[in-house]
Amino acid sequence: MGGETPIRRKPHSDYPAQAPKPVGQLISGIYKERIGQFYSGGQWESVNLRAMMNEGVAAGKPHVQLSVWDAPDQTRPTFDEATSHEFKETAVGSWFGPAWSTHWFKVVLKVPKDLADKRLLELHWDANNEGLVWTDDGKPLQGLTGGGDRVEWILPESFRDGKEHTIYIEMACNGMFGNAPGGDSIQPPDPNKYFQLSRAEIVAVNPDARQLYIDIWIIGDAAKEFPADSWEQHKALKTCNEIIQAFELGNKESLKTCRKIAEQYLGSDINSARVYDSGKEPLVFGIGHCHIDSCWLWPFVETKRKVARSWSNQCDLMDRYPELNFACSQAQQYKWLKQLYPYVFDRVKKKVKEGRFHPIGGSWVEHDTNMPSGESLVRQFLYGQRFYESNFGNRCQTFWLPDTFGYSSQLPQLCRLAGMNRFLTQKLSWNNINKFPHTTFNWVALDGSQVICHMPPAETYTAEAHFGDVKRSMSQHKSLDQDATSLLVFGKGDGGGGPTWQHLEKLRRCRGISDTVGNLPRVHMGNSVDDFFNNLERKADSFVTWYGELYFELHRGTYTTQANNKRNNRKAEVALRDLELLATIASVKDKSYSYPKKEFDDMWEAVLLCQFHDCLPGSSIEMCYDESDQFYAEVFKTAESILKNICKLFGVSEVKSTTVANGIALNTLPWHRKSIVEISETEAAVACGEGPLLKLRQFKTSAENPEVSVRKLSDGVFVLENSQLKVHVEGGCITSLFDKSAKREVIPKGQKANQYVIFDDKPLYWQAWDVEVYHLETRKELACGETKIHEQKNHRVSVVTKTKISDDSYIETVIGLDAAMKGQQSYVEVSSKVEWHETMKFLKVEFPVDVRNTEANYETQFGYVKRPTHYNTSWDMAKFEVCCHKYADLSENGFGVSILNDSKYGFATVGSLMRLSLLRSPKAPDAHADMGTHHIRWAILPHQGGLGPTTVRKAYEFNNPLKLLSAPGGLDGGSAALAAVAEPPVRLTADSDPALILDTVKRGEDDEDVSRGELPKKKGKSVVLRMYDSLGGRARGTVATTWDVKKVSKVNLLEDELEEVVIEDGKFSVDLRPFEVATFKLQLA
Ligand SMILES: [Zn+2]
Repeated sequence: MGGETPIRRKPHSDYPAQAPKPVGQLISGIYKERIGQFYSGGQWESVNLRAMMNEGVAAGKPHVQLSVWDAPDQTRPTFDEATSHEFKETAVGSWFGPAWSTHWFKVVLKVPKDLADKRLLELHWDANNEGLVWTDDGKPLQGLTGGGDRVEWILPESFRDGKEHTIYIEMACNGMFGNAPGGDSIQPPDPNKYFQLSRAEIVAVNPDARQLYIDIWIIGDAAKEFPADSWEQHKALKTCNEIIQAFELGNKESLKTCRKIAEQYLGSDINSARVYDSGKEPLVFGIGHCHIDSCWLWPFVETKRKVARSWSNQCDLMDRYPELNFACSQAQQYKWLKQLYPYVFDRVKKKVKEGRFHPIGGSWVEHDTNMPSGESLVRQFLYGQRFYESNFGNRCQTFWLPDTFGYSSQLPQLCRLAGMNRFLTQKLSWNNINKFPHTTFNWVALDGSQVICHMPPAETYTAEAHFGDVKRSMSQHKSLDQDATSLLVFGKGDGGGGPTWQHLEKLRRCRGISDTVGNLPRVHMGNSVDDFFNNLERKADSFVTWYGELYFELHRGTYTTQANNKRNNRKAEVALRDLELLATIASVKDKSYSYPKKEFDDMWEAVLLCQFHDCLPGSSIEMCYDESDQFYAEVFKTAESILKNICKLFGVSEVKSTTVANGIALNTLPWHRKSIVEISETEAAVACGEGPLLKLRQFKTSAENPEVSVRKLSDGVFVLENSQLKVHVEGGCITSLFDKSAKREVIPKGQKANQYVIFDDKPLYWQAWDVEVYHLETRKELACGETKIHEQKNHRVSVVTKTKISDDSYIETVIGLDAAMKGQQSYVEVSSKVEWHETMKFLKVEFPVDVRNTEANYETQFGYVKRPTHYNTSWDMAKFEVCCHKYADLSENGFGVSILNDSKYGFATVGSLMRLSLLRSPKAPDAHADMGTHHIRWAILPHQGGLGPTTVRKAYEFNNPLKLLSAPGGLDGGSAALAAVAEPPVRLTADSDPALILDTVKRGEDDEDVSRGELPKKKGKSVVLRMYDSLGGRARGTVATTWDVKKVSKVNLLEDELEEVVIEDGKFSVDLRPFEVATFKLQLA
């Protein structure tokens, strides 16, 4: 040993010493584009993956025999009726129509021998319109969409026996989005649209090819959408390329090889729901959904079928995809299903029980929240929650309103009072001026109540479950400081029928990517929306807050479009309020009178349905308004008959009295009133008092000292005057309005109030929906015609002016003044008849007032909101058109002016100029929207002090004038019974805060003599009172009742008892925080 140097062995390496060939880098752009070529149609489809999708097709006789029965006109007959008719032979290639017609197909299927043992057999049916598959014994199974979407129906195993099997397909001649003539879906429907049946064939599908298609679609998206500086993007591109290389046309084994390569990127668990079991922390929670507009580009009657089609799809899909959870809102749609499709309803009920199908939202429909009254919002929840509770055993926890055009500042309070503390919405992502800054936050109402609000960051409620939707669930999440989780609401809306198998397959792969390569937020399936919010609730105290309304910076035209429908809404709300009060009094007074609960339910359900977010806002097609006109006509007819019965019971007649002596005024407002009631052209009376029936006395005046007068000063110049106001009318406009008690001129010198102005109204796209900011620059004043004295009565004077709008349109305006009543603020009343035949014009009326404030006040549900009168910031400017209810008000310290209206919702205050929006004339989606005659009333109410009870009460009174009834001898001449009815059985005592409004008086929902049995009946009679603070301060008061009350409880909107309230001598006190809505239940002895 010694001396030798040990030999150091080199480690073995196969790395060749010489480069065998040149190798280039993938040229990203070209290789990305190549992915599409692998599965796209067109010139490549015979040589790419598409060529291997099917293993066989059987079309035509004897495999697919078709016969049809055409339902007459636009009828939608039932299965039994349709199948009782004779069917005549038809074939693929035939045309069916016109728009909205229905065709029933008898489809006799005979699977050929060579397809009988194939792995997956489907019927492919496409007529580019919606369809519903029925069994031959009348069970609806699954919807079909058409136009390449949801065209498959899986054949049952029993059909493989080589024999003939019959199914029926009910074809509806409308597409997903109705019957628009061309590519622009909001254009009015084409009544002559026809549909060609392009496919009706039995297809043996190659499942490997179908799955590979989804594999490469998603990996391809990763290659295109992951950042170029990420290794995950490069790996995706390389994987796609390898798959394409491995594919051999005609070699089924190569499909399996390709899928093995895909697993390197997607993981090996993507072929089942097992992929979701990795136990890794998810961030995105997928929930299936199908947003079905209750009416929109199709009539309400078609929605009933859309619901059946869509929801049966989901029941079917759930059986094949155990991870699918599906949330669906709108109690009304469940009710339709229950009535018309009991088989589907039972299927849904079963899935609800299994915890897979989630009724959500707690409201009757997904309603508008700008325009419905406070009580309407309450009833949306009351009717919604009661339906869910009585049919599914549970109420909803989450208010669900993804697609409504702005959200009232009182919603969080009402949600909390209806048992919901979560809210999901989405639409604010459409704002076209300012981006809403939060995804997850606490939303706070006027009274301080809060709900957790989540707006899915994928910014859609009809996601296609693309790779990009999952990615955006993180990249567009704006509340990551607080919480990074989000909901992904996916599924085709309207006629699309909800999630498809493609959506579910894609999401499995997205999850696979997150767990295998990463970089994509981890999506999870199988949770409910409630699970998601439960998790948020634990951290909610750290969430940012948003106080007040969620103003939607778009669709501002919806406060005005379809004026007649809006007017009906207001009138119906007023009528329902009146009748519930009167019927309550009647049913407590007299055992023989039964509270017309069914009629009220029918009326409310109709009104609530018409508040659907495309109906009341005016964004539906003409057919929907023909339907809603009928609904309202029915409501008003029922209202008349209820009133007639109550009058009879009270011992009065609903026929108008023709003399003061036999007259009585019907009052439904809960405060002392004093007002003129016109008996005839020449005679008037003063009604005065408190309670449902008011005494009349002769209105007296003297010729020397008239209570109200009109004088002509010169041609076209008139002065109307009473003891409080002096009004100059010149050229049809009000050039001076002097408030004698305030000693103040209301109209700035040289300016004109009640000036009509017209604007060009061409929004960027959504005609019926939008009025855009630039319309303000097209303002044109309308010149008035001649003014004449219209009325010159002892109690009332007025002048009338005709204003030409165009050769086709004009306005007839009556500016009137009543004799002022002592203690009552007088106002100038304007009633107009508008003959309106314009195109894309917007009519408004202006009131410049000598009042200065940077904020104006607008009535909203159970209170009012302040909005800027300036354009300081883009957020201020975005509110260039806003929603109001019965009043809008501009006040400064000590004085203000309110503009009251009887049927309008659009308003703007710019500086000191107040502007009431009257009529629009969009041509899509209803080509005739608002054409015709309109009757509109408004009033200018000056008031001393800031916004106060004067405005709130006058706005109520303006919408609810006293009704003249008759009884022999009037109230004095009547019986003791009549006198007893005249007393208010429940009221706020005179020392109560005048800001307190007793708004609703009704019977308890579940009282044994009222209940219709949805929920357990309760013993005895009860009366529910709803009141609120209308002005934003602490409102204290005393409720006094003459009813024999044994117990009073504060309850929520669903009439659950919250706490007992002490009642003594028929009195109990109330103490409300600013803008609080409080409900009390009086249990009668
Ligand atoms: Zn919608």
